[in-house]
This record gives sequence, structure tokens and C-alpha cells, in this order.
Amino acid sequence: MAGSLFDTSAMEKPRILILGGTTEARELASRLAADERYDTAISLAGRTADPKPQPVKTRIGGFGGTDGLARFLHDEKIALLVDATHPFAARISHNATEAAERTGTRLFALRRPEWQTEPGDRWTSVESVAEAVDALGAVPRRVFLAIGRQEAFHFEAAPQHSYIIRSVDPVTPPLNLPDQQAILATGPFAEADEAALFQARKIDVIVAKNSGGSATYGKIAAARRLGIEVIMVERRKPADVPTVGRCDEALDLIAHWLAPA
Ligand code: NAP
Repeated sequence: MAGSLFDTSAMEKPRILILGGTTEARELASRLAADERYDTAISLAGRTADPKPQPVKTRIGGFGGTDGLARFLHDEKIALLVDATHPFAARISHNATEAAERTGTRLFALRRPEWQTEPGDRWTSVESVAEAVDALGAVPRRVFLAIGRQEAFHFEAAPQHSYIIRSVDPVTPPLNLPDQQAILATGPFAEADEAALFQARKIDVIVAKNSGGSATYGKIAAARRLGIEVIMVERRKPADVPTVGRCDEALDLIAHWLAPA
């Protein structure tokens, strides 16, 4: 096929498309890159200005909703779609479920398990970032915001607080908040470094998403150690698709589903 993302000289190999943007997606892509049985590509939304290079063929940018994704799956003859997007990237996961069903494409999700509370944790669980804003309360606090940049605007509703906002890329447009400092950084973040940061900045509350995984768990462990409250934005109920939590399980499922008859 002219202009195909995939290897047109290897049509007999089942094509796998990974919806990425996470550490797990990269890890799965690098394991599949070395596997001659499949022809694998990854798709990124294009949110990060300077994304890390991927170990397989890469396309960047939205598909154009469910219709666009369904068209892509059909035109590229995708045998298997792996939704390895971030647990909070709800729209693309919804689109993946619909498009896979419409085109009869096999689909599973690779989704890291949620973090669970441990003794010493002081979590306030909320259902959305907007609810996290309310949970900060009326009294001014020193807030560490670690929810990514896309939903940071919600905190403009609570200008009484002092904010340290950490994100991979700058928040755009800049937030209209009187007391804010930005930290631009990409994980992983070690617990000891997080604890030192929280102490240096006199942080008394952290707002985080229950993303799971080890790369950003340092802040949760550091908060426990220092007795700092965490306002935890919990995940919405995931769609009803087969789901695995680890890369090894994903590889087993792929081998099982795509094994030659
Ligand atoms: P989202 O709200 O679920 O998706 C918004 C739109 O972005 C989708 O409708 C789709 O556009 C496009 N899109 C998302 N992921 C894509 C992918 N892997 N390949 C191609 N298009 C994609 O997603 P989001 O929360 O903006 O997150 C965007 C990306 O950042 C995701 O890939 C996710 O894995 C990653 N990420 C998100 C978070 C988070 O907290 N939300 C954190 C870390 C990483 P079309 O409808 O045009 O196809």
C-alpha cells in the first residue's frame, strides 16, 4: 500500500498498532521491535514537544476521532490494537474501543495497576481535577501540582494558594495565578529527591493522579514519609476490554492471539 506506515514487503506478518505515550508503551514497543513475527508501529498524540525516540515505526498526531481511527485500522489492515495510553487519557481509549469493535480488530489494554494506600498515607481521594481544587479548601496552602499541564487551568479557581507546578512542557496559556512557580522535568523521580524538594519548598499538600507505576511513585512515598496530605485524583471506571498490567503479560496475550493457526 502506497504511503503505509508498515512494511509492505512483509504483508504476511500480523500488524500491531500500539497507542502510546507511556513508559509501558515504549517498553512493549522495544520488546516487539526485536520480534520478527510481527510488524509493529506506535502512535503518539504529539503532546510532548520533544518526545523520546521510539524503538518502532512511529506516527504522531490524532486520527480524527473514532471514524479516523477506524479508517486507519481498516486501511492499514491492523491485526491487533494495543491501548497502552495513560490511564487518564479517556478519549483515545474510548475511541479505541469503538473503532476496534466497528472494524473487528482485536484490542486489549496495557494499563499499570493503580497505587493503593499504605499505612502512613494521608490521601484524600477525589473523582476529578475540578474536585481536587475544592478539596484544597479555603485556607491558603503550599501546593505541589503533579497532574500534568492539560488540566492545571482548573486551579485558577483557587488563587489563594501558592503553587509549585511540575510538568514536562510549560503550561500554555500561562495560568492566571498570583503565586506560582514552574518546574519543568521528566520522570522518573526518586523518593529522596522528591522529599528534599517538598521540604525545600515547604509543601503541605500534593495533588496527584492515581497513575500507577514506579516512575512517579517517588512523590507518594515521600509524602508518606513526611506526613504530607495527597489529594489523589482517582481513575474512572475503565472500559470493558481485556486488560493486562505488565509488559510480559501483554507479550503472552499477543503470542496467544496472533499465533499462526
Ligand atoms: P485523550 O484526552 O484521551 O485524547 C485526546 C485526543 O488526542 C484523542 O481523541 C486523539 O485525537 C488524540 N490522541 C490521544 N492519544 C493518542 C495516541 N496515542 N495516538 C494518536 N492520537 C492520540 O488523551 P490526553 O489525556 O490528551 O493524552 C494524550 C497522550 O498523552 C496520550 O497518548 C497519553 O497516553 C499521554 N499521556 C496522558 C497523560 C494524562 O494524564 N492524560 C499523562 C501522561 C501521558 P483524535 O480523536 O483526533 O484521534
